[in-house]
Amino acid sequence: MDKEKLKSYVADFVYGATDGTVTTFAVVSGVAGAGLSPSIVIILGLANLFADGFSMGISSYLAGKSRREYYERLKGIEAQHIKKNPYHERALIREMFWKRGFRGSLLDKIVSKITGKKENWIDMLMSKEHGVIDESSSPLQDAVATFSAFVTIGSISLLPFIYALFRPIEHAFLLSTIFTGLTFLLVGAAKGMIVKRNVMLSALEMFFIGGIAAALSYGVGFALQGLA
Ligand SMILES: [Zn+2]
Repeated sequence: MDKEKLKSYVADFVYGATDGTVTTFAVVSGVAGAGLSPSIVIILGLANLFADGFSMGISSYLAGKSRREYYERLKGIEAQHIKKNPYHERALIREMFWKRGFRGSLLDKIVSKITGKKENWIDMLMSKEHGVIDESSSPLQDAVATFSAFVTIGSISLLPFIYALFRPIEHAFLLSTIFTGLTFLLVGAAKGMIVKRNVMLSALEMFFIGGIAAALSYGVGFALQGLA
């Protein structure tokens, strides 16, 4: 697997994991705030994991598919340009490498090498004329990465409650909060690594955003506890 492809899957995984953790823990803290039983946490938590995770996977698939269709359409246009006006399209390639400082016979060699293979020629024109590059990731695999991250990482917040089904524990919500906090820090750090930002800052940012979402949800659950 090439590096770009791997990066795309890791990015999808991180986004899925973020959303899965934020939304599932929001459900957990909403239910805890309302003082409902752990089995309700599990039912609502699992429902969120699968319904929301599925919807995220679908939107990731659709977004990837329309990016791909857009790319293929532009490719078709450039193939037409090459057919109709090869001289102009070759000059564009020449200009690209001229700007990068290539001259003389080396420049000629590069241009004829690139324009010798239509696939390469079109790819070069795509970045030159349209500013797009082929991400080469598959929409379906992106969607699977998003969904599986959502479900697996998102379920971490539910683990103490699932455990409590078999062996009652007192502090399931506290444990869930600690697990989720650690997950936010780790996912935030991974995100920082992908977008090449300060890893520590990125981890803390995720921790606070997730914390605010959870606090809001807890507050709503607490305020509405009389309804349940
Ligand atoms: Zn063109």
